[in-house]
Amino acid sequence: MFPKEVESVLQALEGAGYRAYAVGGCVRDLLRGVEPDDYDITTSARPEEVMALFKGHCIPTGLQHGTVTVRQNHRSFEVTTFRADGVYTDNRHPSEVFFSQSLEEDLRRRDFTINAMAMDLRGEVTDLYGGREDLQRGIIRCVGDADTRFTEDALRIMRALRFASRLGFTIEADTARSIRKNRALLQNIAVERILVEMNKLLTGAGAGQILLDYPEVLQVFLPEIAPCVGFEQHSKYHCYTVWEHIVHAVESVAAEPILRWTMLLHDIAKPPCFFTDEQGEGHFYGHPQRSAEMAAEITRRLKFDKRSAQRIVLLVEWHDREIAPTHKSVRRVLNAIGEEALRQLLQVKRADNMAQHEKFRYRLKEIDAVEAVMDELLAQECCFSLKQLAVNGRDLMALGLQGSEIGAALDALLQKVMDGELPNEKDALVQYVKEKKKP
Ligand code: ATP
Ligand code: MG
Repeated sequence: MFPKEVESVLQALEGAGYRAYAVGGCVRDLLRGVEPDDYDITTSARPEEVMALFKGHCIPTGLQHGTVTVRQNHRSFEVTTFRADGVYTDNRHPSEVFFSQSLEEDLRRRDFTINAMAMDLRGEVTDLYGGREDLQRGIIRCVGDADTRFTEDALRIMRALRFASRLGFTIEADTARSIRKNRALLQNIAVERILVEMNKLLTGAGAGQILLDYPEVLQVFLPEIAPCVGFEQHSKYHCYTVWEHIVHAVESVAAEPILRWTMLLHDIAKPPCFFTDEQGEGHFYGHPQRSAEMAAEITRRLKFDKRSAQRIVLLVEWHDREIAPTHKSVRRVLNAIGEEALRQLLQVKRADNMAQHEKFRYRLKEIDAVEAVMDELLAQECCFSLKQLAVNGRDLMALGLQGSEIGAALDALLQKVMDGELPNEKDALVQYVKEKKKP
């Protein structure tokens, strides 16, 4: 049942006369038959008592919250004293926490019924709020009064959506009503915390349903999606509104944050770019560029790391560009964005196409063809960047070129090589430069 390290921590605490339980997410996962990522332990022992018991094998990681990290056999466990929270003043943090002698009190402060269970050494489960039943029926439900719990800590709103998405669960009616009612409180939550939850939400198996059901919640920190919801496209390519198309595109791409965020934002500028022609057909000229600008603003506001932000913006900007399945065209794209980004771009294009009207899914074949050309070029170790060119700046300097001439000549050589006009061989390239230099 428990890994032996968890068992030995629980045994040590019990042996010293304290009560000790595995608690929270790990119990939820064990009962679902899923191997937990980590085990949290809750105990009647005070932090200083935990420190004394595991002397030399522990670090006081969060003493004011009662948490000691205990190391066993290269694994770490957070051991936290039974706790009751004081008043919450800022929709996020309790102003004080009290240590308690009661497991019941500790479970009462936890967010959802499925996260509020404890399990002892013998596998006995303490389940005061019907967590097991909710787990079986696939339900996210607050412990206690939903309005109170979301007002105490508004991050729980995002946690509810995140767990529903990852577990493919539904949110119980009263909890769902309260999420919508209290959504504006998310304004008081640090964007860093929101981003962590959004990444987990977006990469969950049930992300699509949550996006369809709760756009107004996400709008609190992503107001840009509001115009997309219910926006008719008036286009033969699309059988969905903009938001429905976005959601299907998110679901159709691999569950990685960069790809999922790219799909979420790829058409975000469609409403401001919309117009209808004389035939009543809808068009969205310039929307990839506009969407990329909005993605840049959104990723900055939500404090993405620079690399991820840049990649998302690039993929949004390129999502609709035609790439012909020819050596010349694919080489040019490789030169412009590199192999890794092109592979991601093809995934983005596939997902975008999957979320369009069935009649237009033939584009998937074109995307496969581009991928085949890319694989062929890479297998031939073909040259598409200055790094791979058979001559470098020093070689050109040796031929008497100077300053800005060097960069210009390298660029020109790379173009010739990419277009197949010159082989990527040092002798041939040097010869070409010499010819060019002759008066
Ligand atoms: P994960 O698998 O993502 O780690 P988890 O349920 O373990 O899920 P954690 O954030 O690690 O989530 O939190 C551990 C436990 O602490 C939760 O299961 C829950 O009982 C409690 N908890 C965490 N955050 C909150 C919160 N904001 N409000 C109330 N209880 C919380
Ligand atoms: Mg956890």
